[in-house]
Order: sequence, then structure tokens, then C-alpha cells
Amino acid sequence: MIPGPFDYHAPRSLPEAVELLARWGDEAKVLSGGQSLLPVLKLRLASPAHVVDIGRVPGLEYVKEEGGFLKVGGRTREAVLERNEVVRAEYPILADTAAVIADPIVRNLATVGGNLAHGDPANDHPATMLALGARVVATGPKGAREIPLEEFFKGIFTTALRPDEVLTEIRIPKPAPRSGGAYLKLERKVGDFATAAAAVQLTLGPGGEVERAGIGLTNAGPTPVKARQAERFLAGKRLDDAVIAEAARLAAAAASPNPDRRGSVEYKREMARVLTARALRKAAARAGGR
Ligand SMILES: Cc1cc2nc3c(=O)[nH]c(=O)nc-3n(C[C@H](O)[C@H](O)[C@H](O)COP(=O)(O)OP(=O)(O)OC[C@H]3O[C@@H](n4cnc5c(N)ncnc54)[C@H](O)[C@@H]3O)c2cc1C
Repeated sequence: MIPGPFDYHAPRSLPEAVELLARWGDEAKVLSGGQSLLPVLKLRLASPAHVVDIGRVPGLEYVKEEGGFLKVGGRTREAVLERNEVVRAEYPILADTAAVIADPIVRNLATVGGNLAHGDPANDHPATMLALGARVVATGPKGAREIPLEEFFKGIFTTALRPDEVLTEIRIPKPAPRSGGAYLKLERKVGDFATAAAAVQLTLGPGGEVERAGIGLTNAGPTPVKARQAERFLAGKRLDDAVIAEAARLAAAAASPNPDRRGSVEYKREMARVLTARALRKAAARAGGR
């Protein structure tokens, strides 16, 4: 329970943080809210020689609509996202997600950027951001680059971030009119990681047909799962019972969960199916209500 030795750095600006990361490369780790990194260090699953704490870097915590996107600063804490009025009114899937991450104490420290950068398929934001078609901004020595979330998760605990990059922003396209989303999670007890969870973001046409569907699954494989076949199946269809059932079946078929204390493969896949169907209904209801 005691981390290995490391040098602690507390840069006061983003260029300083990036410079430190570039100097130490693979030997350094970014520390943000510490809610995943500290357990990792204590269990000695990683023993970086340098820890670069971005907690004192200004300008990385914000939530704002700008240029057709909701922009979330990489160090924005879950508690801030959860309470934000624009998020609650216009991006309810995000508010759903933040509200079921861990507990209020963790959410006061854990950041949205850290939730993605950790690359844990059990984390809740990846599925939601996949459903929303989000991108992240990674800032390194050569400046900033955008990475679509679809290309971000490379393997378990592995992302497209380079060792010298800080995840500085998440960009979520502003949903068109008649859009709605929902995130539903099954957990053994409040604060637990998901046994299964489904994120659905829909845009409906004037006749109620699906114009765009985004579906993400949590804890359903070595990386967060984007249920592409189900998304394609939904395009142009009205959401009657049969269509919802088939889309949920296709989404569950994309899941390849591990058996563990939370359940067997069959149980988790079945829960992914049930939660996708429920999230589709909730997302459609929210889309209709806009
Ligand atoms: C008791 C408990 C319960 C939890 N339950 C849940 C849950 O239900 N759902 C859930 O999704 N998560 C859960 N978590 C995990 C945790 O909340 C998330 O992983 C958290 O959001 C990580 O954010 P952080 O800012 O604390 O990241 P840190 O712990 O500081 O960092 C995590 C990783 O991401 C990297 N990193 C962080 N920020 C950046 C950045 N801006 N740029 C580049 N790299 C970065 C770090 O180097 C590290 O590798 C739980 C954690 C605890 C302690």
C-alpha cells in the first residue's frame, strides 16, 4: 500500500508540464485527481520515477459551449460537470454519467480527462463520449492535436496519448434539435464499477425516424465498445418495439466481457442488451421532449 519512490513535480503552467513530461518520457506519469493513479501507485502496478501533478496548472477546469461544441477542460472534476446547468439541460447523458461515477467524495477530485486518459474499459465516461461522437485535445511539445474518441482507446489501460501529452480538452458536438441521450448502469452497490452499462445518444428526424445513433458500452471488453452494427441498423428507422429489441441484440453481440465477481459472460452480455434497450427508450423520450 506504499508507492515506490518518485520525484514529485508541480508545474504552474501547461508549457512547464509538457516540458517536464517531454524530459522524462515513459518514466513520468501525469497526476490529475489521483483517484485512479494513486491506487495504481500504492498497489505498485506502476512505479514511475516522476509524477507530474497538473493540479496547479491554471485554465484546465471549465465547461462551456463554443463554436458548435461543448468544451470540457481536461481537469474538470466530475462534481463540476454534474452540477453544470448547461449539461443538465442540454447534455443529460453526461449528467447521468457523472452522477453514477463512484461517490461524491471521489467525484470532488476525479476529473473527466483522467477518466478517459486512464484507458480503463470499466470507467463510465468512455462509453458516453463514444456515443456522443466526442474528440479529445492532446497538448504536447509540438502543440495541440485532436483525437476522435473512436481512435483513442488502444488496449486495456492504453490510449493514443503520447507520454509527453496532456489531455487538455474534450469536445462534444452540440446535438441537433430533437436529440436526446441516456446512460444506464447496473452496479452491485452504489459507487461500484459497472457490471454492465449502456450509453445511447439519438437524433430523430421530423417523422421520428433515427437520423443519428451513437451507442457505447462500459466494461464490455478490453476497450470501451462502440456498437457500430446496432448504430447502422437504427439509421432511418422508427423506434418501435421490434427495432429497439433488434438494436439491443446487436449491441449486446458486440460485447465480449470478462467473467468476474460481477457476473458471467452470458449475464453481462444479457445486461448489456437490457440496458441498451432501456437507454434507447429513455434517449428517444428525451429527444422527443426537446
Ligand atoms: C473508490 C473509487 C470508485 C471509483 N468508481 C468509479 C466508477 O464508478 N466509474 C468510473 O468511471 N470511475 C471510477 N473510479 C475511477 C476514477 O474515478 C476515474 O478513473 C477518475 O475519473 C480518474 O480521474 P483522475 O483525475 O483522478 O485521474 P488520475 O488518477 O490522476 O489519473 C489516471 C490516469 O490518467 C492519466 N491522466 C489523468 N489526467 C490526465 C491528463 N489530463 N492528461 C494526460 N493523462 C492524464 C494519469 O497519468 C493516470 O495514468 C473510482 C475510483 C475510486 C477511488
